[in-house]
Amino acid sequence: MSKIFKSPAAYVQGRGVADEIGEHTASLGERAVLIADEVVLDLVEDSVSTSLDKAGLAASSVEFRGEASESEVDRITEFTRDRDADVVIGAGGGKVLDTAKAVRENIDGGAMVSMPTIASTDAPTSALSVIYSERGEFEDYWFYDEHPDLVLVDTDTVSDAPVRFFRSGIADGLATWFEADATYRSDSDNVVGGKPTRAGHRIARLCYETLREHGRSALDAVERDAVTESVEAVTEANTLLSGLGFESGGLAAAHSVHNGLTQLEATHDATHGEKVNIGTITQLVLEGREDSFLEDYVAFSREIGLPVALSDIGLDDPTDDQLETVAAAACDEAETIHNQPFEVTAPMVRDALKTVDEIAERV
Ligand SMILES: [Zn+2]
Repeated sequence: MSKIFKSPAAYVQGRGVADEIGEHTASLGERAVLIADEVVLDLVEDSVSTSLDKAGLAASSVEFRGEASESEVDRITEFTRDRDADVVIGAGGGKVLDTAKAVRENIDGGAMVSMPTIASTDAPTSALSVIYSERGEFEDYWFYDEHPDLVLVDTDTVSDAPVRFFRSGIADGLATWFEADATYRSDSDNVVGGKPTRAGHRIARLCYETLREHGRSALDAVERDAVTESVEAVTEANTLLSGLGFESGGLAAAHSVHNGLTQLEATHDATHGEKVNIGTITQLVLEGREDSFLEDYVAFSREIGLPVALSDIGLDDPTDDQLETVAAAACDEAETIHNQPFEVTAPMVRDALKTVDEIAERV
């Protein structure tokens, strides 16, 4: 089977780049629609419209009402069609970006620009949407042939956002390496439907190294809304390297354990990245990593304020029943946990989760 690597056509990152969106978008179309929630519209609408206008693009805005649901996608598609727009710009978190991707798919032939305002997710670069019900329950993944044409990240905006988002993005990025490496070692498929290339694998490694080298000082800066070279490095790791790394490198146990954990109501206040970190430690236990390796990962997580025990994500004293629910969901046949280079069963996951808590007490 062939190796496949896919990515957005362009990535632009830096302080104040929101003001330059026009020049990077000019070649993509003539009429743009900006999709963002009320808060983000307040933050970016003026600078984005001014910049698009200067570059000769007609611009209009539509308010996103909070859920990446089929009905919201339909409503915004209609708005976009009415304006005959050929560029869809999503600004905000993962749900807005995923909605914008779905709208672009519906209008066929248009361009799509991702403008993440937080560095908490690897949604900006990917060619898929996570679709929810209007009440916010996970429903489906929608996969597309086309990636975003442009990903534009203004680090001024990202550093102003609450630090918890930035930290969660680090957790998601740390997992990228362990999952891509498991996929590579087992010669499993990546998320874009091929075998991982060397590039996909090494980008995931670079993501991990960048986060280990710059994570602490980047968080120090973001605590004070400051932008430093470490903030630039970690923003790139959380957004570009993690995004390319998970899609073209592949996913494995950490995200399956995350998906399993979402089965329990008690974990719903923890962010995606926070649950993923428990997934990463679980994966390391499943892989039989040596003590010093595990202790190092747990100590680093704790140092940067990421959860290391089930109680840190809302699960105090979980029962065997609860752990079995998580383990069964994590081992569903559609799950990426089967990309590990050995067979993984539900009892193995349950026991690894128990061990995670014990390690957290000791380290
Ligand atoms: Zn993730």
